[in-house]
Amino acid sequence: GRKFFVGGNWKCNGTTDDVKKIVATLNAGDLPSTDIVGNSQQYILLAEVVVSPPFVFLTHVKSELRPEIQVAAQNCWVKKGGAFTGEVSAEMLVNLGVPWVILGHSERRALLNETNEFVGDKVAYALSQGLKVIACVGETLEQREAGTTMEVVAAQTKAIADKISSWDDVVLAYEPVWAIGTGKVASPAQAQEVHAGLRKWFGEKISADVASTTRIIYGGSVSGSNCKELAGQPDVDGFLVGGASLKPEFIDIIKAAE
Ligand code: 13P
Repeated sequence: GRKFFVGGNWKCNGTTDDVKKIVATLNAGDLPSTDIVGNSQQYILLAEVVVSPPFVFLTHVKSELRPEIQVAAQNCWVKKGGAFTGEVSAEMLVNLGVPWVILGHSERRALLNETNEFVGDKVAYALSQGLKVIACVGETLEQREAGTTMEVVAAQTKAIADKISSWDDVVLAYEPVWAIGTGKVASPAQAQEVHAGLRKWFGEKISADVASTTRIIYGGSVSGSNCKELAGQPDVDGFLVGGASLKPEFIDIIKAAE
């Protein structure tokens, strides 16, 4: 089966004090888990949980956070590091022991002009260095209203597929742009329709194995109150959470794995 996955994308938020508080909340949180048979001291979380602080807080969070929760960077450079002022390379993240990176977030596509092809190159380079990738796709409101949602997310996914040879270390995040930070969450049926469409696309264009094993998570105004119903959809394998990942509510969202 596909293990439930919950990512917390902190975006460009937080002071050192805020970060300490969030880490303390996560460390004290009662996370859904199962005991390893015969050993009540050891347990495995029911969800794979990954939080993504801004670069400057990554090492602090990684060292202070309980070891069952992993960290992700929010971006990395498209190729090997060098004379690229202001960028952070995949090799640096690997060197720091950061296992995950979020790539292709809609905010970067829209505000920093990242194209489908550029995102595909970034995913390929990050994977080549040993990072795992949370790759984001999603349509704008205009595209949804024009009826091109599946076309848009398929093209974004294809641009990644064209550059990589394995989806083993990729989680695909479907994040409709109109749902991000708006409080307008996709309905469970809307999310399920696109997730099922992406899984069908994987089956037709990549392989039956990639279709059945790749986790497709939903992002966009996920909250403690709407997560359960979304998680109940057969093709929703978890969440990428923005605003609510900065609050204790994030623990409730992780509990949707139960
Ligand atoms: P919100 O949960 O704040 O809508 O953000 C979603 C998102 O963009 C996660 O990457």
